[in-house]
Amino acid sequence: MNGNRGRASVRRVSILGATGSIGQNTIDLIDRDRGAYDVIALTGGRNIARLASDARRLKTKVAVTADPALLDDLRTALAGSGVEAAAGPAALCEAATRPADWVMSAIVGAAGLAPGLAALETGATLALANKESLVCAGALMLKTARASGAALLPVDSEHSAIFQALRGEHKDAVERVIITASGGPFRDWPIEDLPKASLAQASQHPNWAMGQRITIDSASMFNKAMEVIETREFFGVRPDQIEVLVHPESLVHALVGYRDGGLIAHVGPHDMRHAIGFALNWPERRHLPVERLDLARAGSLTFRTPEPARYPALRLAWAAMERGGLAGAVFNAAKEQALDDFIAGRILFTEMADVVEDVLTQMDAEPGLIDAPMTLDNVTRTDHLARQRARNVMAERAG
Ligand code: NAD
Ligand code: MG
Repeated sequence: MNGNRGRASVRRVSILGATGSIGQNTIDLIDRDRGAYDVIALTGGRNIARLASDARRLKTKVAVTADPALLDDLRTALAGSGVEAAAGPAALCEAATRPADWVMSAIVGAAGLAPGLAALETGATLALANKESLVCAGALMLKTARASGAALLPVDSEHSAIFQALRGEHKDAVERVIITASGGPFRDWPIEDLPKASLAQASQHPNWAMGQRITIDSASMFNKAMEVIETREFFGVRPDQIEVLVHPESLVHALVGYRDGGLIAHVGPHDMRHAIGFALNWPERRHLPVERLDLARAGSLTFRTPEPARYPALRLAWAAMERGGLAGAVFNAAKEQALDDFIAGRILFTEMADVVEDVLTQMDAEPGLIDAPMTLDNVTRTDHLARQRARNVMAERAG
């Protein structure tokens, strides 16, 4: 049977963060069914060659680099193609608002928030890989989607799994949501050795090939901590309903527990094209070019409780959720700054959590800061302040 029968018409799609790991996997799916899509906008960072060659091949209307210093390079690379070139944060937002039916939000970091919001304002369906925007400004994202009537679909594998396990069920019947974590490359290290973890070691994920930042965040479990907050925001569950299990095989992505004691699990291969494709084809399910799992070969699936001393990031996620308001924006920004510093070799792997905790504590003590209304301006201001505080905390630790 032709799984792709019955597609209504050509769909206009845009991809924010097209040159990254999620963006390239999205383009892979689109390339396999080119006639079905009209690609409107692609955005990228510094990889101008990739951005330009994809924009040429897909005949997009516009290609945008985040870096204004690279605009001339992009113009040169696109010369004669008919693709418009643009650069900088305002151009990213403008590209996100070009009329489209479906927009992939796959920029890494808080930089993805403003373009994602801009796309939501148009009423386009937003496929959200950029978890940072929900961590920083979940209520604002959801409010914006409600106001325009836009659908917001998860792309993070765990959240796609939850979304799929919730289909056809009543939200009131949900008791708990369990997301799994591989445990990262250090899951079996002696805890006292973690300060010695190098950048190269932290950049090796045992199961998934992803961008460098999310890979390191997986080793520290900051990625899972962000996903816990993302779960709360996306599905409206309370913090005490969310659980994390270490599952080294990474085949079960999430489970939803219902009030009759039943658990519905989502099982799938280590391939982001499943979750991306689910969001691309939603509300239908169509054929996807991913591995069909042989569970007999997989053998056993194991689960364990994450050790708090190994993964302090998880405790900080619950602290941020309990605090509410703009605490998620503080959490994310302090984490991004600490990650920059770990990558640059300025702090140890284990110091990332210390920095985030110190910044959260400091900013919580300042009246009116975390409780300011959640507007894009306030989130951006809080983000900048938290990065500054994180740099100060690190300077104090060093000095
Ligand atoms: P990546 O680093 O491979 O790609 C990031 C993209 O964002 C690139 O196109 C890059 O050019 C662009 N970019 C970087 N900084 C930018 C800036 N300041 N302004 C505008 N664009 C910028 O990252 P990725 O692994 O594809 O992850 C993208 C998002 O998806 C992240 O939020 C990540 O947490 C999430 N995610 C990724 C995976 C995965 O398997 N890679 C899985 C789940 C969720
Ligand atoms: Mg994930």
